[in-house]
Amino acid sequence: MRLLLWDIDGTLLYSGGVAGEAMRAAMTTLFGQPSSNDRREYAGKTDQQIIIETNPHLTPAYIADQLDTFAAAYMAELDTRRDEMAARGRVLAGVHAALAHYQQRPDVRQSVLTGNMQAVAAMKLELTNLLPYIDMQVGAYGSDHAKRVELPRFALERMHRLTPHALTGSDIVIIGDTPNDISCGKAHGARTVAVATGPFSVSDLAAHQPDAVLADLSDLDAVIAAIG
Ligand SMILES: [Mg+2]
Repeated sequence: MRLLLWDIDGTLLYSGGVAGEAMRAAMTTLFGQPSSNDRREYAGKTDQQIIIETNPHLTPAYIADQLDTFAAAYMAELDTRRDEMAARGRVLAGVHAALAHYQQRPDVRQSVLTGNMQAVAAMKLELTNLLPYIDMQVGAYGSDHAKRVELPRFALERMHRLTPHALTGSDIVIIGDTPNDISCGKAHGARTVAVATGPFSVSDLAAHQPDAVLADLSDLDAVIAAIG
């Protein structure tokens, strides 16, 4: 049994900037300071880490304490933008075919490993019709920890607790669009597949030595070969 963990933003979908707008609005309301709108600066970071970096005057403990309140404000902002997200967001090329393929495979469980808080991740996947492919229960989220590199152990722990499978890092495949996705996987001995549909090019990503790099997910045979 292997566990495929897909990153969301820039890997499975673009939210068309709508999620970023909602997050900045919620951050301004709660912490008085919006996050930057530079996509590359935050690529591969968790929502918690973005809040911590944007608010150096607040302690990480205070921010962790406010996280549920922040998640509720963020979800409310997203909720008012549902139609806009459905209109502006889009699923990236090849994603439906790749997710459908791995959903049929008896030797694979597939979920997400994302810096998004779990409720936000679920909403993005629902609005783009990707939720039916993803086993959200065994994923790992920005609500679990501020550092992405810590997230794989949450997914492994959930697999162990909720399924008959006790996996290790080498049973995981991480698929993502940033150097942070690659380093997060490598830290746990996972296989890493980078895809250049986010803010980083194939050569940017190749410099971080993932097991495979793809320009996009449009060629299912290439995706299957990369995932191994
Ligand atoms: Mg990403």
